[in-house]
Amino acid sequence: MNQYIREKLCNNFCSYFKPLQKEDLACEGFIVLERLLRNGTNITFDRPDKLYDYGMQKMLTQAMCVVCPFYANDCDFILAALSPPFNGKEIKKPSPCGGFIFLTHLLESNIIKIDDIRNII
Ligand code: SF4
Repeated sequence: MNQYIREKLCNNFCSYFKPLQKEDLACEGFIVLERLLRNGTNITFDRPDKLYDYGMQKMLTQAMCVVCPFYANDCDFILAALSPPFNGKEIKKPSPCGGFIFLTHLLESNIIKIDDIRNII
C-alpha cells in the first residue's frame, strides 16, 4: 500500500517528493489517504480537471495539519501560513504537500466529507 500511495499520490501531486529518498516519516496527508483507502473509499488518483480555490484550506488545516508530524517545524506551507506578512506585504506562499492538495480536490468534489477525515485521525 505504501509504495502504491508513493507512486500515485506523492509522485504526482507533491512538490516535496524525492523518489530516490526513503522517508522514515509520512505526512498526515499520506496517512489520511492510506486510511481512507484501507476503509474502502473508492479513490482514483486522477488529476483534477479544474483549479481549486482552496475554500476548504482552513478546515483541512485545522482537522489534519495540526496532528501532522511536520506541523511544528518542518512544513513550509504551515510556517508561511502562520507567519505575519513580510513588511505588510503578502509573499508567494509555498504549496502544501500532495496529500493536502489531493484531499482538497476530494473535498471540493464531494467525494469525501471533512468528517470522514476527522473520524479517522
Ligand atoms: S500541508 Fe504540511 S502540515 Fe499539512 S499534512 Fe501536509 S506536510 Fe503535514
